[in-house]
Amino acid sequence: MKRKNASENFELIFNDFVDYLMPELVPYEASLYLFLLRNSLLRDGTIQIRIGKRSMAQGYGTGSRGKKTNYTHMTRVISGLEVKGCLRVGNTTREGTLYTILLPRDIPLVKEHITNIKISSEDEDDYFTDPKKRQILFERDNWTCQYCGELVSQDNATLDHFVPQSKGGAHSKDNLRTACLVCNGVKSGKSFEEAAPAILCSITQRQKRSQ
Ligand SMILES: [Zn+2]
Repeated sequence: MKRKNASENFELIFNDFVDYLMPELVPYEASLYLFLLRNSLLRDGTIQIRIGKRSMAQGYGTGSRGKKTNYTHMTRVISGLEVKGCLRVGNTTREGTLYTILLPRDIPLVKEHITNIKISSEDEDDYFTDPKKRQILFERDNWTCQYCGELVSQDNATLDHFVPQSKGGAHSKDNLRTACLVCNGVKSGKSFEEAAPAILCSITQRQKRSQ
């Protein structure tokens, strides 16, 4: 079980990395970030690693074809990651420098991305607050109360939350139905099952009155 949770966690980290972080990094930064993550979190579950630039350069692949470690290059890549908030550089000892690696969700650039995506998708789904989107739903329902079948107009049309907001119902187009003032008042705050008898009763009374 514990193992499953851990792998789900890695999946999330990996998805965040691919979706949000990688586009912000140059390829060298991306591969160094993955190298550090592989040798810290994925190896022993911590997000800290003490390592020298030489081992780092060898490990993440700039040392291919026997090229000598280029310290200027390493320093540039590390400071690139630091500036982008992906890691924190700690003290340096004989064994190397201490790096704290931030997981994608903790990196400001990624956080910003995720928040922006949330906000825009919430806006898109809000058919309750936006007057133009309300009109779309009234049109969809042919300006007819979805409970009693009465025609409604610009003056008295309302939108009812089929699953009430108090029970987690969203401002989404699927959860909103055109309703007359009376039906909306009767149903207010209740699920359809709870409100159905009262709605039926109200419809019958109105029919009697109009006869
Ligand atoms: Zn109605």
